[in-house]
Amino acid sequence: MRVFRSIQGYKNWRNEISTSSKLGFVPTMGFLHEGHLSLVRNSVQENNYTVVSIFVNPVQFNNREDLEKYPRNETRDIAMLEEAGCDIIFMPSIEEMYPEEITESYSFPALDDVMEGVFRPGHFNGVAVVVARLFKIILPNISYFGKKDYQQYMIIKELARQQFPDLIIKGMETIREKDGLAMSSRNVRLSVVERENADMIFQLMTRAKKLKEEFSPAEIEKHIANMLVNAGFAKVEYIQISDADTLEPVHQWKDSSKPRIFIAAWLGNVRLIDNMELI
Ligand code: AMP
Repeated sequence: MRVFRSIQGYKNWRNEISTSSKLGFVPTMGFLHEGHLSLVRNSVQENNYTVVSIFVNPVQFNNREDLEKYPRNETRDIAMLEEAGCDIIFMPSIEEMYPEEITESYSFPALDDVMEGVFRPGHFNGVAVVVARLFKIILPNISYFGKKDYQQYMIIKELARQQFPDLIIKGMETIREKDGLAMSSRNVRLSVVERENADMIFQLMTRAKKLKEEFSPAEIEKHIANMLVNAGFAKVEYIQISDADTLEPVHQWKDSSKPRIFIAAWLGNVRLIDNMELI
């Protein structure tokens, strides 16, 4: 496994490999866990080469404290990627990725003006800026994204459709802890008590599948919001049942054949997001 910190170093390697080889790419912000590694292992299985990027992208953070407290552990990440069979780590500095003022801007009508788009203004523009730059540097054939960040996955698919038509975007299922909590680099910031309550999100999303027989989407959204507040969640930003393809709110079950529930809520100082198919 090789580690490149410069774009030029990576490009030299990229120019040397056969044009017929398949290259899989997994963009990450590091502090890796089994969720990231499931993407990496899929890529290793399906491609000749797997490139993983580690870059905590300041442009996608709309909250300064979140950026400052974002956990990092380069040495551990490198060891985990070696073990998972990764070939190349691309780990640029901020100056390497953003040597000049950022001028590009993106919008993805309908996809980025709901949920995370509302509560994290500028977030998806920042994601699109870095991912488009990374795609242009890495030149992958397939790129892997987690459905843990389902809205991001939909936006990246749209970005690829518009600008990288030959690139395949694959969405991978969410990897969870034993109690159902979606793995996330931010989970280490939960206190012991908060961590014990954090599985509520998974429990309630699972319950929503059953409640669907009897209750409307709005009734379920309200019920879950109340339950989270009662369980000690500091703030519920949204509970939204939306169509998995359009992300449009589902008002009546008959309006969507693929309803999905999306949740964003704060437990102490940590913002958790999760989602689940309601079929
Ligand atoms: P991040 O480092 O949080 O930016 O995540 C990098 C990639 O890993 C994104 O495509 C995420 O959606 C994906 N990912 C993060 N957590 C999980 C998880 N628990 N299961 C599956 N994929 C995940």
